[in-house]
Amino acid sequence: MNLDSKIPDGPISEKWDNHRFSSKLVNPANKRKYRIIVVGSGLAGGAAAATLGELGYNVDCFCYQDSPRRAHSIAAQGGINAAKNYQNDGDSIHRLFYDTVKGGDFRSREANVHRLAQISVNIIDQCVSQGVPFAREYGGLLANRSFGGAQVSRTFYARGQTGQQLLLGAYSALSRQISAGQVKMHTRHEMLDMVVVGGHAKGIITRNLANGETKAWTADAVLLCTGGYGNAYYLSTNAVGCNVTAAYRAYRHGAGFANPCYTQIHPTCIPVAGDHQSKLTLMSESLRNDGRVWVPNQATDCIKNPNDISEELRDYFLERKYPSFGNLAPRDISSRSAKEACDDGRGVGEGGRGVYLDFADAISRLGESTIRERYGNLFQMYERITGENAYKRPMRIYPAIHYTMGGLWVDYNLMTTVPGCFALGEANFSDHGANRLGASALMQGLSDGYFVIPYTIGNYLASTGAGALSPDGPEVKEALEGVRERVDQLTSTKGKRSSRSYHKELGQIMWEFAGMARNAKGLEKAIGDIQDLRDDFHKNLLVSGSNDSLNAELERAGRVRDFLEFGELLCRDALERKESCGGHFREEYQTAEGEATRDDENFAHAAVWEYKGEGKTPKRHTEELNFDNVKLAVRSYK
Ligand SMILES: Cc1cc2nc3c(=O)[nH]c(=O)nc-3n(C[C@H](O)[C@H](O)[C@H](O)COP(=O)(O)OP(=O)(O)OC[C@H]3O[C@@H](n4cnc5c(N)ncnc54)[C@H](O)[C@@H]3O)c2cc1C
Repeated sequence: MNLDSKIPDGPISEKWDNHRFSSKLVNPANKRKYRIIVVGSGLAGGAAAATLGELGYNVDCFCYQDSPRRAHSIAAQGGINAAKNYQNDGDSIHRLFYDTVKGGDFRSREANVHRLAQISVNIIDQCVSQGVPFAREYGGLLANRSFGGAQVSRTFYARGQTGQQLLLGAYSALSRQISAGQVKMHTRHEMLDMVVVGGHAKGIITRNLANGETKAWTADAVLLCTGGYGNAYYLSTNAVGCNVTAAYRAYRHGAGFANPCYTQIHPTCIPVAGDHQSKLTLMSESLRNDGRVWVPNQATDCIKNPNDISEELRDYFLERKYPSFGNLAPRDISSRSAKEACDDGRGVGEGGRGVYLDFADAISRLGESTIRERYGNLFQMYERITGENAYKRPMRIYPAIHYTMGGLWVDYNLMTTVPGCFALGEANFSDHGANRLGASALMQGLSDGYFVIPYTIGNYLASTGAGALSPDGPEVKEALEGVRERVDQLTSTKGKRSSRSYHKELGQIMWEFAGMARNAKGLEKAIGDIQDLRDDFHKNLLVSGSNDSLNAELERAGRVRDFLEFGELLCRDALERKESCGGHFREEYQTAEGEATRDDENFAHAAVWEYKGEGKTPKRHTEELNFDNVKLAVRSYK
């Protein structure tokens, strides 16, 4: 597997400009000869499809929801980072770059992160022009707040609905292109395989979820903007439909999968309430601007009403352990601290798996109306789910699976190891290393879609020339037949167990052995357990209904089948990474105080997995990461 990252020459601050200048161009008249498939219409896919359409390419855009507006991006709450330095508090492109590399525990590619920080400022301008209603100061300037892992305020937001507003902006741009005929939107179409001809991605196979029709689509390039794989854990803050299928199918066709073990566990989610829950709810990190995290000092106080526990009997553990960052310590660190407190028997709420997020101080300092103005919809959501009023009583929160830093390996051009197949947004292994900082996913998705791919795709297209395959070609037909067979397998097994029950069991294995803390013995067990579960799935699955009409059971079964393979890959990656970094905490590698111990000598690389065939062990490759602009150091937030 060739892992040439294609990082441009020159000083870090000039690499992107140099690259744009030396990239090949497709002239405006020729652009209309090319067809590009964009799978996904979230922030990454929506932005890419709209921009490529605007440039004059013919675009086919796919999503499995009934509207592009329902992509999971709509759920993003807290905000989007940009190094605008509107607060004059010391921010700069270099600081955002530095914070992101450090926040990712020095496991990301410097050149990509720097480009992201540079582009961040353009994103805000683009979105404001589209009419995104970012919060403003009294005088009309855009407002900012802080997110974890930063000591400046650089997060732009639209209450707790930033993703929704950004997605509406991208959707308006996309709609314009749909109406101009430049983008054809295919909703309720799920990509079930990729078509690779002569080593190049040339199309996809979809299933129409409304009527079951399977169909081949061909193009000059395929962009996968299909989001993250957090739902491998069953319970997560992701929308229930989020899945790994598109990325996993590309992996089976030769696209390297990078760092699958880098999953992000978000510290502020509503704790699990019972056995029948199918998803978890995030309480945005922005709340930690004003909320203080604590547990009682004594386990015996955990059952008391929190308002009856006096100050001196409380442990504000983040403020105590990380005084410089306090409640805004990064997610991986805050999550582990919450787990530690609960393991210590000081967790609150049912099952003792919860810590308090308390707004009493902020309310007495700023008044309830200010807190309502900042986070009103989040408090309302919390009350609807828990029945508790967080203005009067602290919220209860606990870490949950939230985001995935791993994904398809891409070079500087966002191209995977399959030429012509690109990955954008959360679907790629991205710029976040082993831990993503809050408010940086929206930034990356929009950067990839609006500003990176429109330049870099030209390099590929101009060197291969236009000419999509005929959908009737033999390779395309073969891929189509393969998908039909795989769909038939699901409905013809006629066993006894639902795909949901397999998914739930997989999630339990993943959470227990590849969750917040991992160790070799547990990961080995998880790999064996997942293999057994997968075997059982193939023998004992029951999918009711048929495959020629709307069938949500069938959709879920297909996604679970891929999770059952992918889960093993994730555990394998976690097993091989014999260090602790970011969201990947190996219990064998920690300091006496329980902090992560990185091994830069042996693991300062991205691990990239190559599919070797059914039942065969995948091969691990590495891309060395060089740190020329940020000094490798122990990550400290104390
Ligand atoms: C609750 C929550 C809150 C968050 N808040 C923030 C925040 O405040 N700030 C921040 O920076 N980040 C936040 N994030 C993370 C951020 O929302 C996501 O990382 C980001 O929106 C992902 O965008 P995307 O375009 O890559 O993918 P998505 O928005 O997930 O879009 C994926 C698209 O791919 C399509 N798709 C997937 N598979 C297929 C297939 N097989 N066939 C066809 N179509 C397919 C889907 O239909 C969809 O259109 C949050 C995440 C969660 C879960």
